[in-house]
Amino acid sequence: MHSDIRRCSDWEATHDRPVYTLGDRCPLCGAPTENGAPAPFDPTDRYGEYRRRARPDRPE
Ligand SMILES: [Zn+2]
Repeated sequence: MHSDIRRCSDWEATHDRPVYTLGDRCPLCGAPTENGAPAPFDPTDRYGEYRRRARPDRPE
């Protein structure tokens, strides 16, 4: 059984730290959430947001 924990997909730009939730929207900023697994981008890259937004949504 997979964990249902999800993380704000836009936390790098919006929050000081990852925001975790069980919902599919961030409770703080309303951005879509994503699985809490390691993300396919460098978390230190503050400009990754632009590239991620240019891509179609990835299937779960
Ligand atoms: Zn958020």
